[in-house]
Amino acid sequence: MAPETLPTYADVEDAAGRLHGRAHHTPVVTSSTVDRMTGAEVFFKCENFQRAGAFKFRGAYNALSRLSPEARKRGVLTFSSGNHAQAIALAGQLLGIPTTIVMPRDAPAVKLEATRGYGGEVVLYDRATSHREELGQRLAAERGLTLIPPYDHPHIVAGQGTAARELFEEVGALDCLLVPCGGGGLLSGSALAASALAPSCKVVGVEPAAGDDGTRSFRTRTLQQVQNPDTIADGARTQSLGRITFALVLRLVHDMVTVTDDQLIRGMFLLWERLKIVVEPTGALGATALLERIVDLRGKRVGVIVSGGNVDLGQVGDWVKRREATPRAIPS
Ligand SMILES: *Cc1c(COP(=O)(O)O)cnc(C)c1O
Repeated sequence: MAPETLPTYADVEDAAGRLHGRAHHTPVVTSSTVDRMTGAEVFFKCENFQRAGAFKFRGAYNALSRLSPEARKRGVLTFSSGNHAQAIALAGQLLGIPTTIVMPRDAPAVKLEATRGYGGEVVLYDRATSHREELGQRLAAERGLTLIPPYDHPHIVAGQGTAARELFEEVGALDCLLVPCGGGGLLSGSALAASALAPSCKVVGVEPAAGDDGTRSFRTRTLQQVQNPDTIADGARTQSLGRITFALVLRLVHDMVTVTDDQLIRGMFLLWERLKIVVEPTGALGATALLERIVDLRGKRVGVIVSGGNVDLGQVGDWVKRREATPRAIPS
């Protein structure tokens, strides 16, 4: 990616202006229990309370609001395993832009229903037999639709960066910011915000251990891939970082770490039980890296992006059983 085409903090500011009054300014939650457990001063930026239940609305609305009148009339298409789909459908509904969403047949039922509920036309595909990008590109070409990918797009990255921008504006400088990472849109946007608003803040991306392609890419400085990783963090099952997001991650992110699904279940349930907020597995990645001491942040001021709250409640029973079967690593 040529450096001049990478988004900058100015694009995050521009996105914040477009999102004003359209996206929720989400709450920052603190917990003395969490502070005691971790020895840190922790600020959770709660994007589970964002419209459509995840930060994805920020990037989606920003990208759609920048389309020309002609492109708006023709409509947009995207492929997504969930939250980006809902976000595009909702942003399209608000802006009067028709949306077509290519989704895997096995996507969580709540996500399929919500996408249709926001007026998106859902086209299902089979994960095992077809390639979503190819299908998406073919449909977009046939129907004259603008393709809005889930993360590797400058307006998506800039929109996602507005969550961290709000956090820094509210709580001031931080020593560390923990950010869930799938394709790296949220992470690279957050890093843009940190580089401008809190230059000494270390930005750390957190992935599920089964989908550690971003961590391997970061360490080797060469883009690595993973195929259909087996993890409950469905929002981070992406094959690899994107060209734009990888370039920004290499430039602006300080470290990448992974958490196992057993750790993630403990971390997620702790947020449910102690913070009284419903967070989906992917949304708990950053918090889990802190709570399970994957990153040692004692004595630090720490920001955590809680990225989403769209949980398929049918799965909760399995997660509870799994938690009971796993010994706790850390007494609390
Ligand atoms: C999409 C998503 C992520 C990962 O975001 P990327 O920009 O793809 O890295 C994290 N959490 C939730 C809840 C998501 O929906």
